[in-house]
Amino acid sequence: MVAGLNAWKELLGANPQEIKPYFRSRQEKDFVLWTSKRVNIPVIIEAVKPLVIRHNDPEEVFSLDIEVPGQKSRMETVPAIIGTKVAGELRRRMHQILREAYKSWPDDVNRAVESELPGEAYKNGYECSVTVNPRQDRQGLTEFVVPGYCKRCPACALMGYAVETGGDVNAISRVDKDTFYAPVTLAEAIAKITRNKVDDVTFTTGQALFELNTIRPGTLFLGVIVLRDVTPDEALFTLKAVAEMERIGAAKTVFGGIKTYIPAVVFSHGRVLTGYELAGEALASNIKGRDAMKNFVLEKVKAAAGKYPVVEADIAETMRRLTIEELKDVILEAWRDAAARRRIVKQLASKK
Ligand SMILES: [Zn+2]
Repeated sequence: MVAGLNAWKELLGANPQEIKPYFRSRQEKDFVLWTSKRVNIPVIIEAVKPLVIRHNDPEEVFSLDIEVPGQKSRMETVPAIIGTKVAGELRRRMHQILREAYKSWPDDVNRAVESELPGEAYKNGYECSVTVNPRQDRQGLTEFVVPGYCKRCPACALMGYAVETGGDVNAISRVDKDTFYAPVTLAEAIAKITRNKVDDVTFTTGQALFELNTIRPGTLFLGVIVLRDVTPDEALFTLKAVAEMERIGAAKTVFGGIKTYIPAVVFSHGRVLTGYELAGEALASNIKGRDAMKNFVLEKVKAAAGKYPVVEADIAETMRRLTIEELKDVILEAWRDAAARRRIVKQLASKK
């Protein structure tokens, strides 16, 4: 089994010497301090089921205006997915992978945590989530969100967490979100679906029919997730979680199924590209279809990267094929990186 830069070489065909300067290592004295090391992950999200994407207005498909480059003052309204929705799904997949990892090798995970944080192994199993507790108050039944982040797993180290009491420190997310834009007009992307009206409270189906605006399956969304100051194993773990993303929006319905594609990864000292730019150019070039879009994004990413190293592979497909067992060393190293980060941050905080 492999981890670190060797895993990048063996799994994705990367040149370790070329990409090493853009990664951090827990052996560094200033491991938790920020630098300009970045991993850009261009992601294509494909709707495989009708998508229900809303933001504030419960009736409307969420859309944004986009300027089409090279075409004098042409603006288009296109469907979009806000970054927090993508980040929420990413964190859920990270948790899922980590739960499976802990179930498979609890002693190895606890050894990794203990090696950096003595006495802080998971005593009652790995638990790290936001729990939603329904509770009775004056207004009736209200949901209280109780933060229950463990603060020492890779999901916490990468996505960040807020602490609820004094005497502790928050961790800022090192996963820079992006808005995902579909390079297709809203009119083309929308499919009206007629359903039985479902009562939101009891989830029983009444007789009334209603029309729902959904995003047509096959619609593609473009965005670029940027990782800041990550280790090689944290980056691979994140790629696995991006590859496993499978829902956006609807939690309990037949809607919302997605699949992701990552045609390349770019190492750099800043964000090289945004979903806004990619989608605008895809609109201008009228790119349609998954394979054409993958090639288009790859070409744009290579052009934007300039002299920065690009790892070109069908990364999401590769990561989906790899089992948790095959990624064991990568996940354990990422867990140790997370524990080391927590140890150093706590030490810095106690010195203040
Ligand atoms: Zn955690």
